[in-house]
Amino acid sequence: MTTAAKEPPTERVPGRVWTVRLTGHADRTATVTCSTAACRMPPPRSKDLAGLRAFAAQHAAAHARVATVHANAWCHCGSTQCAAHPDTPAHCAGGVALVLQHDPLVGRVWTLEEVCDACAPLIPNARILARAARPSHAKVPAPQVPMPARPGIPGGFSSPTTQPAEGPARQSRRPRRTPRPAQRRGQGQGR
Ligand SMILES: [Zn+2]
Ligand SMILES: [Zn+2]
Ligand SMILES: [Zn+2]
Repeated sequence: MTTAAKEPPTERVPGRVWTVRLTGHADRTATVTCSTAACRMPPPRSKDLAGLRAFAAQHAAAHARVATVHANAWCHCGSTQCAAHPDTPAHCAGGVALVLQHDPLVGRVWTLEEVCDACAPLIPNARILARAARPSHAKVPAPQVPMPARPGIPGGFSSPTTQPAEGPARQSRRPRRTPRPAQRRGQGQGR
């Protein structure tokens, strides 16, 4: 079960989580907040709880549509010691799924999170919206880097680099033509 996590194809990243929350106030109004700081909440503080609730559900669904499930994400449920399902322990395994957890009885919190296949069915009031694509490329061997085509210089037989071969041949002829030791004797006698 744990062998799959030994050699992840890519570096693991923390599982993401989005929490959309309907918060009631003392004056019977409510606001919608999102854990994503960049999210702006168009509906102002309102007493229209049904409208805010619908907006919150749509907002969570919008996050689910945009989010691409990370195949290399750690299970967010497991990172919280499986606090979502304390009575049914599980060992995180399998692929990554994006689940939306919403308790209709409470009706105030929408939690979108990346969890593993083992935790996803155990989280109450959660349904799987998307799954990460299986890393099928893990089995494909790495493509061989093509060797750059080099000109046939190393062979050298048909290349114009035959001049070095002629050089030693010419130099070997010179000592025969001009025997230097004989001239040295002559120079010594001449002076
Ligand atoms: Zn948001
Ligand atoms: Zn779990
Ligand atoms: Zn898990």
